[in-house]
Amino acid sequence: MFYRLLSIARRRRTSPGWQNWSLARSNTSTAEAHSITLPAQAQVVICGGGIMGTSVAYHLSKMGWTDIVLLEQGRLAAGSTRFCAGILSTARQLTIEQKMADYSNRLYHQLEQETGIQTGYIRTGSIFLAQTQDRLISLKRINSSLNVTGIPSEIISPKKVAELYPLLNVHDLVGAMHVPEDAVVSSADVALALASAASQNVLLPIQILELIKKPLEINFFSRGLTCSFWAYELGLSNEKPVSIPLHACEHFYLLTRPLETPLQSNTPTIVDADGRIYIRNWQGGILSGGFEKNPKPIFTEGKNQLEIQNLQEDWDHFEPLLSSLLRRMPELETLEIMKLVNCPETFTPDMRCIMGESPVVQGYFVLAGMNSAGLSFGGGAGKYLAEWMVHGYPSENVWDLDLKRFGALQSSRTFLRHRVMEVMPLIYDLKVPRWDFQTGRQLRTSPLYDRLDAQGARWMEKHGFERPKYFVPPDKDLLALEQSKTFYKPDWFDIVEAEVKCCKEAVCVIDMSSFTKFEITSTGDQALEILQYLFSNDLDVPVGHIVHTGMLNEGGGYENDCSIARLSKRSFFMISPTDQQVHCWAWLKKHMPKDNNLLLEDVTWKYTGNRVLLGQPNEKKPTDPKVSSTFSFFWILKSECQSWSSVVEHLPSMCEALGSILSTS
Ligand SMILES: Cc1cc2nc3c(=O)[nH]c(=O)nc-3n(C[C@H](O)[C@H](O)[C@H](O)COP(=O)(O)OP(=O)(O)OC[C@H]3O[C@@H](n4cnc5c(N)ncnc54)[C@H](O)[C@@H]3O)c2cc1C
Repeated sequence: MFYRLLSIARRRRTSPGWQNWSLARSNTSTAEAHSITLPAQAQVVICGGGIMGTSVAYHLSKMGWTDIVLLEQGRLAAGSTRFCAGILSTARQLTIEQKMADYSNRLYHQLEQETGIQTGYIRTGSIFLAQTQDRLISLKRINSSLNVTGIPSEIISPKKVAELYPLLNVHDLVGAMHVPEDAVVSSADVALALASAASQNVLLPIQILELIKKPLEINFFSRGLTCSFWAYELGLSNEKPVSIPLHACEHFYLLTRPLETPLQSNTPTIVDADGRIYIRNWQGGILSGGFEKNPKPIFTEGKNQLEIQNLQEDWDHFEPLLSSLLRRMPELETLEIMKLVNCPETFTPDMRCIMGESPVVQGYFVLAGMNSAGLSFGGGAGKYLAEWMVHGYPSENVWDLDLKRFGALQSSRTFLRHRVMEVMPLIYDLKVPRWDFQTGRQLRTSPLYDRLDAQGARWMEKHGFERPKYFVPPDKDLLALEQSKTFYKPDWFDIVEAEVKCCKEAVCVIDMSSFTKFEITSTGDQALEILQYLFSNDLDVPVGHIVHTGMLNEGGGYENDCSIARLSKRSFFMISPTDQQVHCWAWLKKHMPKDNNLLLEDVTWKYTGNRVLLGQPNEKKPTDPKVSSTFSFFWILKSECQSWSSVVEHLPSMCEALGSILSTS
């Protein structure tokens, strides 16, 4: 088994056609025949042999794990990885994404030397073009954050762009960003090199199976799920279904014959986001694709095919991107186009990849949903996931990418289909502060939704929950506000300023129903004991008191920031941020002893939360003694009243002003 992989890697290394093979594939399924008996036990089973699976295997083997099984239904690196355009780009929105891409770049750079397998790594650099001032501001922001991360980059003039890439039309540009250390590689070869390195370092049985869905007699200790758009169904097919919210869209690029004077292999990669296209050198010619406004979602009803083939060409669909390319490089007009590649790629509800342990099945890890950056993230993402499996934590804060940021509502096929149609174009859209997704909204609303909406509420979404952002006064034009997408002072700025003033100087009510709420109860002292163990502050407080505290991990790091109220001697009420619902639940469940007398209940749906804020407490303190006694800090009352079955009033000090949250069920 071990030699089998190496022989495949060697064969491909010596074949000059391998570089092209990935693009000029035959239609026949070439799944390797298998007569391999799986081991009865393994430390980890990784499902999917693309860039993600092989990277996880590589890093686990580097960390000393030897008992690794990598399952691949077809051929290694024959999924999306085979069709990848091969652009390694470090200019990403999030710092954690930049770090992953930077690590990948350094890893792929030395992989050829480490393994002897040619990976096609060439340092070309990338140039990101700006056609508008807003785009230039966006690039300047990314440029600053790249520099903070330690990735060299600079803002350059259109003249400099022309010097670096004479074939480009630069007349409509206002500037650009140059990232000189970005690279291009052959992604399939990188995956093979990673797998080969993993098998060279340790005794790694790499199994190439025709089908994984056969029942396997294996004692899994950990499982790594790294099989792109197949992951959605595979997750659901688990005994305890695991929701992995991702959906595939078709993704196109064209390949041309070499130019009359073939492009140098180190010609920079161009990203013209305003024109929605990217361009790289490909064998002296051009590879150019993009993120169109009207993407084509695919496989909504599932994907069973063993290996992906080039999907149907669709020149009508590609036409706007082609026009954009010809505007940017008019000389291409007479060049012969070789083919239009069309391959599925997975996208997620928030444009960020998905990694981490499932909240429902311990030891079930996921790395998928790459939003067309899987090659760039592959090295770093594989490293963080491997660290997570081995040490229990990755070495960086990856909360933005954690699977547990999603709830079940974001996993419906209909929601995902609509959302990814918005996400794919957004990849090249300007991301101004405070923008919100438009699709898949109103999944969760508070009972006050209609009343607040009638008052002019403009809504934002958090964890599928609608929350009012601000209220539009009757004299303002709603439609004009919708268009306030800018890096400068937005239209809503004055509205929010007035609301803040009101909170400071008068009384305001905020609908906080979206906050996560749990009840932890026991027949004896179990609830207190587990909470004392998990949280940093002393929770053995008198009934009716509230403690603001943190849920810590073994390293003393924060897992959650919350308020805990003692409802009775053996019953506690916990309030956490909205988007912590799944994470918090999983963390508590993971650490709670199995004890039928200890109960954790998610009561988020049961209670509506309204925060009352009193500005300028000393001057405006309520005079009614019944009310003023309510407005003292850290105090809770659970009572029955006519219209609600119970009321919880409590007062954590989340801001300077006095206030109260009324949670009613
Ligand atoms: C046209 C195109 C261009 C792209 N260009 C770039 C680019 O320039 N730069 C960049 O960073 N990213 C790019 N990407 C994205 C990148 O290619 C992907 O994100 C990445 O390859 C995904 O890797 P993966 O390992 O998750 O998935 P895959 O490569 O698809 O691997 C998943 C594997 O899992 C296997 N599998 C599935 N189900 C099972 C099962 N039940 N049992 C066993 N095995 C199973 C499949 O056979 C497959 O081999 C591009 C994507 C496309 C489609």
